[in-house]
Amino acid sequence: MKTIAIVEDEQDIAELILINLQKSGFKAFMFSDGSALFSFLSKKQIPDLILLDIMLPDMDGLEICRLLKKDHDFSSIPVIFLTAKGEEVDKVVGLELGADDYITKPFSPKELVARVKAVLRRRNITEDSGGRKIVIKNVVIDPEKYEVLIENKKIELTLTEFNILHLLASGKGRTFTREQILENLWKGEKAVIDRTIDVHIKHLREKMGKNARMIKNIRGIGYRLE
Ligand code: CA
Repeated sequence: MKTIAIVEDEQDIAELILINLQKSGFKAFMFSDGSALFSFLSKKQIPDLILLDIMLPDMDGLEICRLLKKDHDFSSIPVIFLTAKGEEVDKVVGLELGADDYITKPFSPKELVARVKAVLRRRNITEDSGGRKIVIKNVVIDPEKYEVLIENKKIELTLTEFNILHLLASGKGRTFTREQILENLWKGEKAVIDRTIDVHIKHLREKMGKNARMIKNIRGIGYRLE
């Protein structure tokens, strides 16, 4: 049973989400602020996904995401932001912080559950690839541990960055169009735009340091790993 952590200070919304996730066969926990979430995490209880409200009483959702992504143990937990209408800026910032998706309030519970499943499915795609390590020069991609080593040093990637790198690496030398990347990783969810991929790749490259050159931008088409 997959576990979902809901961080949301509005009790009504949190309960609505909780009930709908439970109905869909998930185990869910509610937290009304960041400290409650971190005290849960500190007991080494690692949820499969975190639904993260942005406007929260103590630290905001963006700050929580930033802390999660900095931490070895938590950086690969997928994060979906819950944003209020009109917080467009936050969406971009959220993606740049390594969130995997965002949902605008008010949302239908059905849509929310579908998005949660989609993000978890993306994770499974990599797991289904047989868990074989891919080694390209001094870069080792390990789908079993969601780990990337460059010159034997682990680099911290978000789940989405990992999945993109893994996809490009598994088709090394082949150009993937943005549409193909979307199709492979997001299964044609309409909410995801091309720019999303560019943002994730930009971050992936930054983290890869001088190995960033391996990921080539094929102008007007997409990306290729060489
Ligand atoms: Ca709130």
